[in-house]
Amino acid sequence: MIIMQDDKRIRISNLNELIKSCKKCPLHLNRTNAVVGNGNIDTKIMLIGEAPGRNEDLQGIPFVGSAGKLLDSLLNENNIKRDDVYITNVVKCRPPNNRTPNKEEIDSCLPYLIEEIDIIKPEIILTLGRTAGEAVSLIFDYKWEGLEKERKKPREVMFNGIKIKVFSTYHPAAALYKPELKELLREDIKEANQILKNKHKSLLDFMK
Ligand code: SF4
Repeated sequence: MIIMQDDKRIRISNLNELIKSCKKCPLHLNRTNAVVGNGNIDTKIMLIGEAPGRNEDLQGIPFVGSAGKLLDSLLNENNIKRDDVYITNVVKCRPPNNRTPNKEEIDSCLPYLIEEIDIIKPEIILTLGRTAGEAVSLIFDYKWEGLEKERKKPREVMFNGIKIKVFSTYHPAAALYKPELKELLREDIKEANQILKNKHKSLLDFMK
């Protein structure tokens, strides 16, 4: 068990070094920092967003701006701290003016996300926003049916011998100024957490 945990740490550290020096797509040209995943690599819940924004690019940490603060508060409502989960993005470098990353950029960066999933081995993935939901559907090879439909039907997928439940929900940046989306995001986080709680008696049980 200790060897496996060490192996995870070595793998994530190697991966992060690769990402920080990556020049596979044009997004490296304007970045201040490549933003690697952050949080607990022994968790069973992984959150995936679209791309770093301005604050994330400056600090090199995902979800540290106002959208991140909203996400933190919704996680806290379920007694989940940032350190309890692992958070990452589909692309690791900030697109200019926060535009949506294009196909070339996503295709270039996706192997890093696949490696993160393989290292973390989450039981639950919560995708935040359409870009993340679509990218994850490519990894697990199912047909993306749009965010509204997908959020109502969590997918169960097998990945390298692990069963993962994939929830699709809204990006906290979209929910910042739309109370109705914030409510749906709140519901989805609560549902994902409830499923974990039903499977494991307490948060501590799935943190190992
Ligand atoms: S976005 Fe991804 S693929 Fe593109 S340069 Fe950054 S780390 Fe590399």
